[in-house]
Amino acid sequence: MTHSEVIVIGGGIAGTSAAYHLAEHGRSVTLLERGEIASEASGVNAGGIGALGWGHLPDLESHLTMGSLQIFRNLQLDLGYDIEFRASGGLQAVQPGAQYDYAKDRVLSLKSRGYSVELLDINAARSIEPELSPELAGALYFPLRGQADPQKATRAFAAAAESRGAEILTGWEVTGITGTADGDYLITCPDEEYRANTLVLAAGAWCRPLGEMLGIGIPIVPVRGQMWATQPMPPRVFQGMSAVESYAHWSGNPGGDANTPPELTHINGRRVTRHLYGRQTRDGEIIFGGDRQMLGYDRMVDAGGVEVNFSHTAEILPFLGQQSISRTWSGLMPFPLDGRPIIGRIPQLGNLYIVSGLASSGFGRGPMAGKLIADYVHTGHQPQPLAESDPARCVTSLS
Ligand SMILES: Cc1cc2nc3c(=O)[nH]c(=O)nc-3n(C[C@H](O)[C@H](O)[C@H](O)COP(=O)(O)OP(=O)(O)OC[C@H]3O[C@@H](n4cnc5c(N)ncnc54)[C@H](O)[C@@H]3O)c2cc1C
Repeated sequence: MTHSEVIVIGGGIAGTSAAYHLAEHGRSVTLLERGEIASEASGVNAGGIGALGWGHLPDLESHLTMGSLQIFRNLQLDLGYDIEFRASGGLQAVQPGAQYDYAKDRVLSLKSRGYSVELLDINAARSIEPELSPELAGALYFPLRGQADPQKATRAFAAAAESRGAEILTGWEVTGITGTADGDYLITCPDEEYRANTLVLAAGAWCRPLGEMLGIGIPIVPVRGQMWATQPMPPRVFQGMSAVESYAHWSGNPGGDANTPPELTHINGRRVTRHLYGRQTRDGEIIFGGDRQMLGYDRMVDAGGVEVNFSHTAEILPFLGQQSISRTWSGLMPFPLDGRPIIGRIPQLGNLYIVSGLASSGFGRGPMAGKLIADYVHTGHQPQPLAESDPARCVTSLS
């Protein structure tokens, strides 16, 4: 039996950042990961870091994005981990017609709330991203967006946590959790038992089965994302890239019900919109993806969906029409049923915390989510931004 003050379950970006920040606070912390660090969503994502600024009234989203941006920057520039972080900026392609009207409204609304965004005409957009199609109406420009390598960044958090005394254990799958009479948790792995006073669930799309071990219902479902890459090539794409099409669709039709999260690309197996994001990596691959499909834990790549995403990308960056796909992959994203992150203390049991529900933008939001949960565990007080992500709103008792 091994004892630790705090146990974090899950070695993705949320769990490794939580472990790092807990260790920074001087807490004795053990992280249990069933695979390798970054073996799930945190290691296979596109590496896009979204940020719009703090805005006039900073909310949870601005804390998660701007806080994470700062933490990524510190990890690379102050702590010296090469995570391929770059404050690249981001462009969101706007096609003519209804998309342009939506983009104009969106930029006005964001700017009035103090966020950093511009609507560029196509010549201005092509001045900073020369391969953009001249057929586009323009692009939204997000100067604060960044990018980093997801594997390197997540592993850097684990390494930084270890260097501050955290124990990072990989190949340890949690198969059972029970409470003890004196309020501790007994965590069972196949070859070992751990005892801890405080438990942090950071298991991404697997939070629901972990919750069931504790008799609580955590409304997070796995949503498959998939991506494709070209062979490495010389630099041709400089910003983080996305497209306004899906956002225009979701603004009027978010979808979602008691069993389905909002803002998916497919509902009941039928495509409702095309979503797109990607970038060129430091080694020269061009990587893109976008589909968000709820299929349980099935993660088989759907070639038809990849083809749709590839042709959408080639509408925006026509030179890709002459390229071919060299590899594809997929991952499972933790989507909360009400569309809002679940970060905070779970009220049904003592000293039980969760940092999850980061959905399709958890790489860019995970570092600050991990810091905020570490601050909560350390001080016992809810950091103010986490009022919006309080698990009390949605976590239920199963008995
Ligand atoms: C294809 C794709 C592209 C994406 N692109 C972006 C992007 O560009 N920008 C962005 O911000 N976000 C992106 N995302 C979303 C982002 O990757 C996720 O939101 C984020 O990685 C979630 O992190 P996490 O730590 O919560 O979960 P995960 O990374 O899934 O980590 C959870 C960990 O818990 C472990 N675990 C589960 N059960 C157990 C158990 N019983 N015992 C021990 N360990 C357990 C798992 O093995 C896993 O390693 C993308 C996701 C995908 C799939």
